[in-house]
Amino acid sequence: MTPYDNIAAAPQAALSGKPLVDGFGRTVTYLRLSVTDRCDLRCVYCMAEHMTFLPKAEVLTLEELDRIASAFVGLGTRKLRLTGGEPLVRKGMLDLVRSLGRHLRSGALDELTLTTNGTRLADFAGELADAGVRRINVSLDTLKPDLFRRLTRGGDLGKVLAGVAAAQAAGLSVKINAVALRDDNAAEIPDLIAWAHGEGCDLTLIETMPLGEIEADRTDQYLSLAAVRREVESFWTLEDLPLSTGGPARYVRVAETGGRLGFITPLSHNFCEACNRVRLTCTGTLHTCLGQEDATDLRAVLRDGADDAELARVIREAVLGKPKGHDFEIARAQPAVTRHMSTTGG
Ligand code: SAM
Ligand code: SF4
Repeated sequence: MTPYDNIAAAPQAALSGKPLVDGFGRTVTYLRLSVTDRCDLRCVYCMAEHMTFLPKAEVLTLEELDRIASAFVGLGTRKLRLTGGEPLVRKGMLDLVRSLGRHLRSGALDELTLTTNGTRLADFAGELADAGVRRINVSLDTLKPDLFRRLTRGGDLGKVLAGVAAAQAAGLSVKINAVALRDDNAAEIPDLIAWAHGEGCDLTLIETMPLGEIEADRTDQYLSLAAVRREVESFWTLEDLPLSTGGPARYVRVAETGGRLGFITPLSHNFCEACNRVRLTCTGTLHTCLGQEDATDLRAVLRDGADDAELARVIREAVLGKPKGHDFEIARAQPAVTRHMSTTGG
């Protein structure tokens, strides 16, 4: 008996409706769910060295996370990504994953996945696979132990590499995400690509985004992926792939390695026309656009005792107001949005 056994497979009131469509005709089928703002690392581009984390009462309980995620599934969401903070530091995380796994078994959900820093993956990989997780994203910006320790403010690269190996041994497909940092890993990017592809992993490069206040000056860290692509193309053959995930990534195949390489370029490219996703913070705030301040407080709706029909109605209304697009600008002195990636969920 788990705490979830009394939760219905999917809210019936929500199931009766039409898919979630916004005011610009985009159907929302993908929810990214931050399950905690806490993390065992302090990556320099993501967090301040001394973060103040949220009081526990502000963070959604596992039951509340399940209820909101399930409402989305009832409204046509086909993909759930659990993120954070670091999802694998949340107590009871495996219970939540197992519980949400019921939507995979019922056929209501196509994919249940995770973005993790990998430090605890060696402990959890087998059980994640048993719960129905098939693919995970592991964030890793360097293969140099000292640089890893500096970028993460104390992390142990060996644990992440062991985590990747354990995930693969458990049958999970692993994609590596690396943030491109001008002074730190720019020269190492070809080695990272070769390593990831050698391990049978896709690799996606991410430009730094102006989210949340941190100590470092992001203008210094920003590295244009257009420049990275030109550099990589000077010695490898890149074949464009048509694959579109409805997200900001564009993919190529590297002919020489046979692996896939993605570029997430929120600053130098506009990817909003095909956007199919929304995000829920660990405090239950729904953001329908990563780069805008629009927000709907679903925690208040739940804690006011709303039934499933009311929850579905509020979600529909929020999605209807999804902004047309975002407006990031690295040269700005202030972050485009004040919340950190670790609160919103990357
Ligand atoms: N802790 C997990 C991890 O690191 O994979 C999940 C949460 S983390 C916030 C999700 C992703 O966001 C990571 O790949 C991280 O590198 C990326 N990220 C964090 N801050 C960022 C920023 N300011 N710009 C671009 N990517 C960022
Ligand atoms: Fe933690 Fe992920 Fe942010 Fe790094 S990027 S500090 S691992 S939440």
